[in-house]
Amino acid sequence: MSLKELFKNIAPFVKPYRWLVVATLVMTFIGSLAAQVNAVVLDRTVDAINNLLHADQFLWAKAARILIIISIVLLGKEVLAALITFGQRFYGEKMRILVSRDLAQSVIERMLTFRVAYFTRNGNEPGRLQTRIDRGVESLSNTVKNFFIDILPLGTSAILALILMYAANVYVGLVATCIVPIYFYITYRQAKKLKGWRRDMRANREAKSNGIMNIIESITVIKSFNRERIEGDKQLELQNRLTDNQMETRKLSFLFDGLKSFTEQIGTVLIIILTAYLVLSGYPGMTIGKIMYHVMLFSNVSAPIRQLHRIYDDMNDALIYAEGFFDILHADGEVEESGKYHPEKVEGHFVLKDVDFTYPNGNHALHDIDMDIKPGKITAFVGLSGAGKSTVINLLDKFYSPTSGSVTLDGVELKDWDTQWLRDNIGLVLQKNHIFDGSIEENIRYGNPDATHEQVLQAAKQAYIYDQVMALPNGFETKATLLSGGQQQRIAIARMFIKNPPIIFLDEPTASLDAVATEQIKNSLDAIKQGRTVIIISHSLSQIIDADEIFAMKNGHVEQSGDPDEVYRQGGIYKEIFDASARSLNIDKISHTLGMEDLEI
Ligand code: ADP
Repeated sequence: MSLKELFKNIAPFVKPYRWLVVATLVMTFIGSLAAQVNAVVLDRTVDAINNLLHADQFLWAKAARILIIISIVLLGKEVLAALITFGQRFYGEKMRILVSRDLAQSVIERMLTFRVAYFTRNGNEPGRLQTRIDRGVESLSNTVKNFFIDILPLGTSAILALILMYAANVYVGLVATCIVPIYFYITYRQAKKLKGWRRDMRANREAKSNGIMNIIESITVIKSFNRERIEGDKQLELQNRLTDNQMETRKLSFLFDGLKSFTEQIGTVLIIILTAYLVLSGYPGMTIGKIMYHVMLFSNVSAPIRQLHRIYDDMNDALIYAEGFFDILHADGEVEESGKYHPEKVEGHFVLKDVDFTYPNGNHALHDIDMDIKPGKITAFVGLSGAGKSTVINLLDKFYSPTSGSVTLDGVELKDWDTQWLRDNIGLVLQKNHIFDGSIEENIRYGNPDATHEQVLQAAKQAYIYDQVMALPNGFETKATLLSGGQQQRIAIARMFIKNPPIIFLDEPTASLDAVATEQIKNSLDAIKQGRTVIIISHSLSQIIDADEIFAMKNGHVEQSGDPDEVYRQGGIYKEIFDASARSLNIDKISHTLGMEDLEI
């Protein structure tokens, strides 16, 4: 990204605050005029005092007049400068904060529109995305402040000081003008040299944040395997890479900064030598006061230029982070697509034809899938782990689109459906449900923000969690994240009850529940299943045999389908899984315990 592109991208974020920019600019312009006062006053004072000292007769009245004028002008200027500095800083900072808020909000809102595939792609891990956004917002909002608030006044200061130099003496002005391009050239070289290092630094920072996040997320596993050392070493490697990079960047920066300082000092020396020579050779208008005057003016030229270069340097840094940030903001191809189809009533008849699907990371998860999922019936997906069952659900919920083939609901291609409407009509309960940071009531109400308190209680009762919640000291106000896995699962089921959709996908909904809860939930789910299209993925035989139809999957393909009993009689993968599940239940012993020795499979 070039600087020009950067500003084109930032401009819309600054536009709403243009009056703030104008006000700050006016203030800083006055400030830069005031900055020249010291040099002018010094020039005049030195000459006036000189004249007074060399006059035939020293007059205290004249001296006092000079001192009073100097005091009034300098103090007045300082008061004005203090007020202006306050205003400039305050409004400049206000703008930076507001722009930073807008940048962050826009990227979050943008990301919420992205398809699920975006978040599962390599390089878009949570820690990386977080760093990309945080760093992007920080460096972009600083750039805005630097550019709109600092650059213009600094530039004006430098030009004003240069004009004053030319006005005082053309040769001195020329020397100052010669130094500036050298300074610019060094900065340009510096930016070019640092670019690659900066890009590496960004990647390293993202990797480091992601590493930290992974450690926090897997802390129990790390500890249970005593892998603290290994995890520590992995982080150390990342840290070392980052440190090497930082050292190299700093080294280069210091080297170039030293060169720039040296150039500036050479400039000062040249100005001193030149003005001293001009005074000595009696050049018209050149007095001793002019030596000081020119040195001060030159520092008024070089100081803002030094600052400008610091800003330029910051901007080059910002460019690297801006790339990552605007990549997110402009990822139009990642926005979830939506059709217009929005029927009054959704029947729930899914048909998949010749569906092939490959995950963004290249994992070929489904091939040649044909399914006819009947409305108002219970369909079970059966298969070993990794067979592709959840992937089919991902396609039916439009989280991913098939690579080839077609998926229709009620005869209409899924891509033509209004995505929000489709999801309003689907209830999804996963094996591990996400519980948000909030109360139990808020988590249940997530299923229907308009639900009343009574409806929330009713849903909790249906999900068999009501009594347990009421037994907690804070009842429904308890933080939901503090509940056990099984309890959280029932909160997620209550969430679906309150949503009350005509289509329900259950992906191993009772996997983390105890036996009693499983039975309760099963009864509860049996009640909600009536008259709806239900797809259930389960390893629990009791739930599979209740299905009207099953699809037995293996390696991303449907091997068998039909009525469960019929499919069982065919043999094959379904029979294998069914028999293994039955054996794992140890039915012989169970029946013995129950006193039913005649129970056999
Ligand atoms: P099942 O639900 O039958 O256990 P899945 O549908 O979850 O199986 O997985 C099918 C295949 O797709 C597996 O090989 C799995 O590793 C892969 N897979 C699942 N989710 C993703 C993902 N987000 N990105 C890449 N591959 C995935």
